[in-house]
Parts: sequence; structure tokens; C-alpha cells
Amino acid sequence: MQTIKDLDIDGKSVFIRCDFNVPKDEFGNITDDRRIRAALPTIRYCLDRGCKVVLASHFERPEPGKFTHEHSLEDVAKRLDVLLKIKNNLYFDDSREGAVVTKKAKELFDKMEGGDVLLLENLRFDAGETSNSEEFAKELSQFGEIYLNDAFGACHRKHASIHAITKFYTKKTKAAGFLLAKEVNFFSRILKEPTRPFVAIVGGSKVSGKLEALDQLLDKVDKIIIGGGMAFTFLKQLGYEVGNSLLEEDLLDEAQRVMDKARANGVKIYLPVDVVAAPEFSNNAPAKYLPSQEIPENWMGLDIGPASTRLFREVLNDAQTIIWNGPMGVYEMDKFAKGSTKVSHYVAETHATTIVGGGDTADVVARAGDIDEMTFVSTGGGASLKLLEGKKLPGIEALEA
Ligand code: AMP
Repeated sequence: MQTIKDLDIDGKSVFIRCDFNVPKDEFGNITDDRRIRAALPTIRYCLDRGCKVVLASHFERPEPGKFTHEHSLEDVAKRLDVLLKIKNNLYFDDSREGAVVTKKAKELFDKMEGGDVLLLENLRFDAGETSNSEEFAKELSQFGEIYLNDAFGACHRKHASIHAITKFYTKKTKAAGFLLAKEVNFFSRILKEPTRPFVAIVGGSKVSGKLEALDQLLDKVDKIIIGGGMAFTFLKQLGYEVGNSLLEEDLLDEAQRVMDKARANGVKIYLPVDVVAAPEFSNNAPAKYLPSQEIPENWMGLDIGPASTRLFREVLNDAQTIIWNGPMGVYEMDKFAKGSTKVSHYVAETHATTIVGGGDTADVVARAGDIDEMTFVSTGGGASLKLLEGKKLPGIEALEA
């Protein structure tokens, strides 16, 4: 993949598609600015070469054409100012029009000098972003002689600033930023040449969302640990009663197929041997540790139990490469977070190369305080899952076209 280093960018205007879709708390404070910090190397590289840097990102899902502070990038602009610490100007289009290519944005762009930065408003304020509009993409392309994509987390989407815009650039004027190149190279290298034993930990709510990834992983890994809500479809297929636990009845055959394929490939599958069960989906519900075989009729398994975490620790002991996608339980509720937190500690303690993908899983690892212990935490959830499924991402294909 061609990267920013392959282009001649000195003194030019550079449009960088970033992923500044950061989490905020109920007061609107940015709680985790890793995505902003992760974009800094590319931005600084351009600034050091005297470029005019124009940054663009989406933020959640606003109604197009309607300004709301909640969806504005105003707070991101402030954080960026603190993190970048540039002497030059950091401009932000504060016209509050619920639009992206505004008169003010164009005026700001015209007065920019080398070393200045302009942050455009939330790309999704324009309906053309999600519809992959060529017209909107063309307007955006006027903000940069060079186009850089550094938004790994958005590359699985065919949106105007990711896909359509690349048509307005040539091989000499478009490339991946450092973050995008790092994420893609990391995943492809690990999947191609993992040091063994290679263990995948898969969790989260549903089998359906991860079926293709599971299928691909079965061709690559030595062991798979299955936790979270998705484990119950496998347990049910093995003949256990799972009560009211999350279950995808229509995927029972698929669960069997996955287990058969694992056996044929010599891949060992590990399922929870016990669970934290509760009669309802609530932090206030009474909870019990129960063997997976003994979930009462009206109860549900909301986390893996202590015997399962011990078992999974043993499984991880000799691992040399670990990929983790999906929490082991409903980690958002304290009562059901222990399984995920413990697995996070165990993964962090190994001497393996550890790759964490998926927004929820990254959140688990952050809450557990293990982020710095992991080899690599991907900034993109959906995109990293697509790579695990062995799929090409539309944003990356468009860059290479
Ligand atoms: P996913 O988006 O598929 O990775 O799923 C993440 C979600 O799965 C999180 O919000 C968890 O709360 C949820 N989850 C994990 N384990 C369970 C479980 N045993 N029952 C219900 N939801 C679960």
C-alpha cells in the first residue's frame, strides 16, 4: 500500500480524512482521545513539510443539514489545539450551518498558509457523505492537492470522503496516512505469519455478526476461545439448556458446522464451563455462579464464571499470538464485567503478540488499565472485523485503484 512517504507533499495543501469519532460522557466531555492522538504523526509530518493541512471526520450520526452541538466537531477542535501545540493557526469552521463545504470554510482555506490547520465540520452534516456522492466528494477535493486517508475505522464504509473522493486524485496524489498503513500492515502480517500457538478470543453479543470471522480464523489459529453472548448458541447445540440467555436458534446448525470444521482442522475450541447468571438484565439483579449445564429456565448467562476465566488463563499460557475481538460478558454493568476484565489482565500478562480489535474490546482493555500492555489496539471495530473476515476494505481498494 502506498503511504504518505511515497508522495511529494512539500508545501502543498493536504486533505486528511481522519477518524475523530471519539467517545464522550454524559456531560459531553471527550473520555478517550486516543483516536485524535493516533492521527498526530500524519498531521505533524505534513506540518513539518510546510503543508496546509485540512482535516475532516465524521462524528456519530447527525441528521444531515441540521446543526447540533452534540454532533459538532467543536470539542474535537479544542482537544486538537491542545494536542498539536502548533505555533500556527488552527482554524475551525464555526459557522454552525449544519453543513461542511460552507462559505466560511472556503474563506478560511483561502487565507491558510503553510503550517496552518483547518478542521472542517462533521462530514455527516452533508447527506452526500453517506450516499457516497461524487458531487460532495468533488467539493471536498478542492480542499487538498493531496488526499490522505488515515481513518482506518471508517474504511469499511463506501462514503464520499473515503471512496468517491479518490476518483479526483491520481497515484501521485493519494495515499494512506501512517495510522492506516500501520493498522492494515499489522493485521495482514499477523494473519499471514503468526508465531504459534496462535489463539483467537471471540466474544460479544451475536454469532451472526462474527460468523465469517470465525470461519476465517478456523483456517489460521490453533485455539479459539468463545465467550460472551455468542457462546450460548454453541452450548445449546452441545445439548445444554441455556435458559433465557442470548440464543440464535437459526444458527444452531452453523454452530455445529463451526465445531466440525474446527475438529477437521485440528483447532481446539474452548467454551465457558460456568457463567454468572441472573434472572434479569440488570445491575441490581441477584447473580449466581453456575456451571454452564445448570442455568435455570428463566435465568440468563451474562458473564463467564470464575472457573472459565481460570480455564482460559491456562489456554492462553503458551500463546505466542493472541487476537481478541468481543467482550466475555455484559461488561457495561459492573456485576458482569469481571470475566472480561480478568481475560484482559491474562492477555496483557502473556509474552504473546496481542492484538485487540473492536470498540467494545478496546473499551474493556482501557477500563481494565491494560491498554499499554497490549502490542496493538486497533482504532476500528467494524473495519478490523472485516480484515479478520479476509475481506478487502472499500476505502483501501479505492486508494489502490
Ligand atoms: P458485539 O458488538 O457483538 O461485539 O457485542 C458487544 C456486546 O455484547 C456488549 O455490549 C456486551 O454487553 C454484549 N454481551 C456480551 N456478553 C453478553 C451476554 N452474555 N449476554 C448479552 N449480551 C452480552
